[in-house]
Amino acid sequence: MYISARKILEEELKAIFEAGLHKVEHLLSSRQGRMTVVDGKEVLNFCTNNYLGLAGSDALVEAAKKTLDEYGFGLSSVRFICGTQQVHKDLEKKTAEFLGMEDAILYSSCMAANIGFFAGFLAEQDVILSDALNHASIIDGIRACKAERFIFEHMDMQDLERGLQQAQQKRMRCVVTDGVFSMDGDVAPLQAICDLADKYDALVVVDDSHATGFMGNNGRGTHEYAGVEGRVDVITSTYGKALGGANGGFVAGRKEIIDILRERSRTYLFSNSLAPVIAGTASFAITYIQEHPELQQQLWENTRNFREQMEAAGFKIPASAHPIVPVMIGDPHKAKSIAKAMFERGIYVVAFSYPVVPQGTDRIRVQISASHTKEDISKAVDAFVKAKQ
Ligand SMILES: *Cc1c(COP(=O)(O)O)cnc(C)c1O
Repeated sequence: MYISARKILEEELKAIFEAGLHKVEHLLSSRQGRMTVVDGKEVLNFCTNNYLGLAGSDALVEAAKKTLDEYGFGLSSVRFICGTQQVHKDLEKKTAEFLGMEDAILYSSCMAANIGFFAGFLAEQDVILSDALNHASIIDGIRACKAERFIFEHMDMQDLERGLQQAQQKRMRCVVTDGVFSMDGDVAPLQAICDLADKYDALVVVDDSHATGFMGNNGRGTHEYAGVEGRVDVITSTYGKALGGANGGFVAGRKEIIDILRERSRTYLFSNSLAPVIAGTASFAITYIQEHPELQQQLWENTRNFREQMEAAGFKIPASAHPIVPVMIGDPHKAKSIAKAMFERGIYVVAFSYPVVPQGTDRIRVQISASHTKEDISKAVDAFVKAKQ
């Protein structure tokens, strides 16, 4: 009977709406791109993870069509029964090579990768040490695993060291961090983390979803950017951001870890193979960005340009170099009204408030793309200046 459940849910929904916390889904009626039609209005898009501008690109659409013709739409199977095609093997190999890791394993998303990862090879005798601001999917992955957990203060290496000291009697120690944190665009101190991991015999796991494809000289990610290639044991990441923006995730890392995940990781074993069209197109995207280094150069140039102009215009922006640029506003209503005024001026940005970010740190999170032009960047800065008045 749907009687008490309806009453409870109606009340919960009412509370969410009354607190102004409900999520509005804006309707796009174009491809995802530099210019996007949002709720019927064509705007310059400054709020996607489309860092290299590949999501709506003709090049990827063409590659996808070819893959569809060759491999079909779906496999109706998991990998180990009847669901492995050459595109899946190729993408795993290409991903591992691109990142400089020994092997890689595909998942239907990075969320699925993180949820299936920890329980796939850790148990009660082990401990996971996790940054307090790690992504929700890491938190859920840790919850799905019986290992003990130690949450260290955000990027606090003394706190992490305390945790590692406490964990010396454990069988395995596993430190996990986002490579880049999505709300502030701050970059994890991987050098210091790897030093501690060496000192205390711990594994280092990095979720590099906001870095794969463009951080570091070759776009490999935060490990390349931080100069710790070969020292990070595992990278989890998504094909749903810079690498084409559709779906799919992976774990790349030491051979034995990937081998054991193929045997034990539940979100891999008990969930369908990645659709071949996504596997083939993600593979194409990796080759494409290697052949087009100008995309990364443009992304970084645009990011520097935007950060400099915004700071010169007096906006408060936390120090970082990343294309995630939080413009701090500090009041939920003001942040919302600025985002609205920006939209009216043809610039699409989104305001973030509590509980997504801590109270009092209301912000507009801008995300820069390689597809933006110099004029687009100036236009966005100009719109911020006018919208703030
Ligand atoms: C976006 C993101 C994910 C989720 O990726 P999906 O492939 O969309 O599931 C996981 N971790 C981090 C850090 C992310 O930013």
